[in-house]
Amino acid sequence: MTETAGRNAAPYRAGRHFLQIPGPTNVPDRVLRAMDNPTIDHRGPEFGRLGREVLAGLKHVFKTQGTVIIYPGSGTGAWEAALVNTLSPGDKILMFETGQFATLWREMATRLGFEIDFIPGDWRRGADAKLLEAKLAEDKGHTIKAVCAVHNETSTGVTSRIPPLRAALDKAKHPALLLVDTISSLGSIDYRHDEWGVDVTVAGSQKGLMLPPGISFNAVSAKALAAAKTARMPRSYWDWNAMLKPNETGFFPYTPATNILYGLREAIAMLMEEGLDNVFKRHDRHAAATRAAVKGWGLEILCQVPEEYSSALTTVLMPEGHDADRLRQIILDAYDMSLGQGLGKLAKKVFRIGHLGDFNDLMLMGTISGVEMGLELAGVPHQNGGARAAMDVLTQAARK
Ligand SMILES: *Cc1c(COP(=O)(O)O)cnc(C)c1O
Repeated sequence: MTETAGRNAAPYRAGRHFLQIPGPTNVPDRVLRAMDNPTIDHRGPEFGRLGREVLAGLKHVFKTQGTVIIYPGSGTGAWEAALVNTLSPGDKILMFETGQFATLWREMATRLGFEIDFIPGDWRRGADAKLLEAKLAEDKGHTIKAVCAVHNETSTGVTSRIPPLRAALDKAKHPALLLVDTISSLGSIDYRHDEWGVDVTVAGSQKGLMLPPGISFNAVSAKALAAAKTARMPRSYWDWNAMLKPNETGFFPYTPATNILYGLREAIAMLMEEGLDNVFKRHDRHAAATRAAVKGWGLEILCQVPEEYSSALTTVLMPEGHDADRLRQIILDAYDMSLGQGLGKLAKKVFRIGHLGDFNDLMLMGTISGVEMGLELAGVPHQNGGARAAMDVLTQAARK
């Protein structure tokens, strides 16, 4: 569009931008084309079919037979929904300091007037089930009403193991609800709402689900639905009860994000065509190749627990005295690639390589090459051979 270019748009850069932040992720063409359709009457029969289809399809993605709720809103909104639908003013919540997103969730819960027991962490490992066990054992009077965990900490590249948290609750016979943030793991990393006994799973559209930002989700257990009947937190927009009745026929109590739902229908179809297990394996492979590259460069991965390495992103520590944001800027200018910045206390100390969503081996090699060339251009001390090491992981996997 010459008109915009004539004003203040950046000059055209040939080829595709590499959006390698850990969300929003690259939106595949099939999803873009599915959204590029007329917005329909959200009270008409065609919409009802769309609503029923996506609400049913999401159950496969969350691995639940239970209820899934879709909000127009970002992931943060779905966090709020999980809290206000299940809890009462002043309730005690246990949370784990796994990184910036856990910290933000705590801040929200504090603003909403809950009492938070925030189990401290060093941002290099996941939620600790042993610590949870100890806290629950102390809580004989069952004052803790909910345990909240971030499945994949997008600020650190650490994936917490959820089943041991469930096991700790079961072992203590503790009735607290288990609320889990899967905003950057759903559709990228194995996750099982029902089997893992999660009460509310919070998710968003713009990461593993390959959609633009704009809608978010709660998957809800029967126990959480029952809790909502007696929960006394004031709620209106986020109220599950207002959603459930119209959802039965595929409709919403207010105007849904119709065109993103077209995209969601397509994204669910794509995940099912590839098969969720294959989707997870692909993410595992790209994460392994990325870690091989980081080791090849002689740089350090932030996550310190190999069983908790994230398959959605890898967070890389900069050598002392080198600014990660300068490196990211140099890579953006030279290679038109966006990498994730360090969040919170990790600002300027780390950069994050997103390898989730609609992504393949050669896109990963473009990404890794861009980082390796950027390290060179920025004068960051490193060894060559990261890209070679990543290729070795990928070729080995392809041979199998
Ligand atoms: C992105 C993200 C959020 C925030 O989601 P918004 O859609 O930006 O509100 C919360 N938690 C995690 C783990 C995330 O990755």
